[in-house]
Amino acid sequence: MKNESSRREFLKKSLLTAGATGLAMSSLSTKAQAEAKKKYNMLEESDPQAKALGYFKDAAKADTKKFPKRATPEAKKTQFCNTCALYKKVEGTGKDEVGTCTLFMAPKLRHVKGLGWCNSWVARPAK
Ligand code: SF4
Repeated sequence: MKNESSRREFLKKSLLTAGATGLAMSSLSTKAQAEAKKKYNMLEESDPQAKALGYFKDAAKADTKKFPKRATPEAKKTQFCNTCALYKKVEGTGKDEVGTCTLFMAPKLRHVKGLGWCNSWVARPAK
């Protein structure tokens, strides 16, 4: 009986800790995204050139009906800005990674998300 109660208490504390850690990580990520937005001129999905190329900050939201290049299960796993030959990482990791793209440097430099995607994605040559 006592063991069962201790186990329940342990599980409860573990879940609370995991939840708090998740919230802290999510808030850190949101903060990092807000800082990146201030620090860099981030490419917006509403930008006419971005729209024409089907750019999304989150590759998972890419319109695969309009741009079927990213529709296959393999493409969904491998096609991101940070795996594209036109991308150069500036800083950050995961959802907070920011970089430059050769296509969005003129007339004014706009940064792209490492986990973004557009229809001009091209595989990096193997090293
Ligand atoms: S060309 Fe490559 S790096 Fe540039 S936005 Fe498209 S997928 Fe991202």
